This record gives sequence, C-alpha cells and structure tokens, in this order.
Amino acid sequence: MLIILLYNINYMINIKEITARYNLPPKKLLGQNFLVNPEIAAKTAALSLNGLNGGSCGVIEVGPGFGALTAELCKIYKKVAAIEIDTDFKRYYNAELCFDNLKIIFADFLKTDLKKLFEQEFCGIDNVTLCANLPYYITTPATLKIIRESFSAVTLLVQKEAADKLYAVPGSSVYCETSVLVNYFGSAKKMFDVPPSNFYPQPKVNSSLVRIVPQRICAPENEEAFFKIITAAFNWRRKTLANAVSSGLGLDKQKISEIIKKITGNKNIRG
Ligand code: SAM
Repeated sequence: MLIILLYNINYMINIKEITARYNLPPKKLLGQNFLVNPEIAAKTAALSLNGLNGGSCGVIEVGPGFGALTAELCKIYKKVAAIEIDTDFKRYYNAELCFDNLKIIFADFLKTDLKKLFEQEFCGIDNVTLCANLPYYITTPATLKIIRESFSAVTLLVQKEAADKLYAVPGSSVYCETSVLVNYFGSAKKMFDVPPSNFYPQPKVNSSLVRIVPQRICAPENEEAFFKIITAAFNWRRKTLANAVSSGLGLDKQKISEIIKKITGNKNIRG
C-alpha cells in the first residue's frame, strides 16, 4: 500500500512538472482527470485485450491526454489509434509520445466516423477493441456510440455512478436507456474500482473499470424501431408505456395498448 502511495506521489509530482513545462493545465470542461497510477494504466490495457493476442489486434483510445494509458496500449497492441480533442497537446505528443504503432487523431470522438476509421487505420486487422478513461461529460453519448460498433471488446474507466448504470438490472433504481442498450449489445462487468487518488486532478467521486464484451441475446426484426421504443419508454418514464411509445413513435395508442397487454398482461404498465 505504502509503495503504491509513494509511486502515485512520485507520478503526481511528474505530471505537475509536465503540465507546467508544456503549459497544459488540466481543463475541467474537457473532463481532464489524468491517470497518475501507471499500474492501473497497465492493468487496464491488459484487461482490454479480453484474452486476445495483442500482437495482431488494434485498439482505439478516446482521449489519450498525457498518454499514461496510451503508452501501455502501444506496448501490447499491433496498432493504436488515439482520438484527442485538445490540440494543445500537439507539442507534447511530438516530444514525448513517440511510438511507431501509434496514430494520434485530433478530433471530437462524438463526431468521428468510426466505420471510416476502421477502414483507414485497421485494414487487415480482424480484432479491434476500444479502451478509454472517458471524459465524464461525454460518458453516455460516447458509450452509446461505442456499443453500436463492432469492437471485439470495450473497456471503459468511468465515474462509478455511470458504471453502475452499465450493468444495472431491471427494477434497479439506476436502470436506464443505457443499461438496456449495453445489455442488448453485450455483457458488462465491473473489473475493479479506482479511487480518486489515482487521478490528477482528483475527481470528487470513485471511478470503476468496466469491460463490455459483445454478445447478442436477441435480434429484433427492426433494430431502429427497437432503439426508438427504448428511448421513448425511458424519456417518459412517468407515463404509461403505451402513452410513451405512442407519443415517441407517433403511433396509435389503442393499438400499442393492445400489444402491451398481450405481452405483459397489463396495458397500464409504466416504462
Ligand atoms: N487517457 C488519459 C489518462 O487516462 O490519463 C486522459 C483521460 S481524461 C479523463 C479525458 C481525455 O479525453 C482528455 O485528454 C480530454 O482532452 C479528452 N477529450 C475530452 N473530450 C473529448 C472528445 N469529445 N473527443 C476526444 N477526446 C476528448
């Protein structure tokens, strides 16, 4: 424990020195809470492989920041593509993050065409995973974007509250649209918790490392309609399910009520 604490303090001093040297103070608005524990970074990178052979795999990282996780990914993957929104890091990357198998792309992850990225950066590579210490402010949209793509595994370090939603079960108070969709695409499992002392600056809350492994348990005939129903049901949670779905999808309430009654036995069930 003491060794880990000293390790973190040493790394914290280093990162403070680096932020000053490159004039890169952490930007709260971009969710910049950098990992300062190299052991967690190494463990996260290793777990992201989910048993695959990294020598023949690619990985996409969202937000490399100072590269604590990026460096570990570069050590074990054939190819790493890291998407960073903050162009102020350019000088730092040119000087400090030099790996032959690393491509840094300056872009907003939420606006990045991942299919195009797969084609451009991972041609001939069968398995591509995603690994990220996600900026908290894009956790939900980024997760929803990621799980729709064909990653071999997805490993996310997120605030504990957001992590709890990823593996919430029906009936739990945090069960939400994200829980349903993550469960639809795969199975999410908590790997371990990461306390605030492992980040600089320290967030106010704990984080958790979550791994999502793709696994389809059902295949709706019309996937887009399925997504719309889930969104409608959770957007109007206080309404009856029939009301929520009919207003969300612009469908006849009577017909929807009949279908809901047939499936659940109760036409007044809530979303
Ligand atoms: N991976 C680094 C680490 O673990 O220390 C940094 C993680 S930090 C929580 C989040 C990183 O994502 C920051 O570098 C931030 O600039 C970047 N970022 C924030 N919003 C982004 C976006 N929309 N697209 C891509 N990167 C983003």
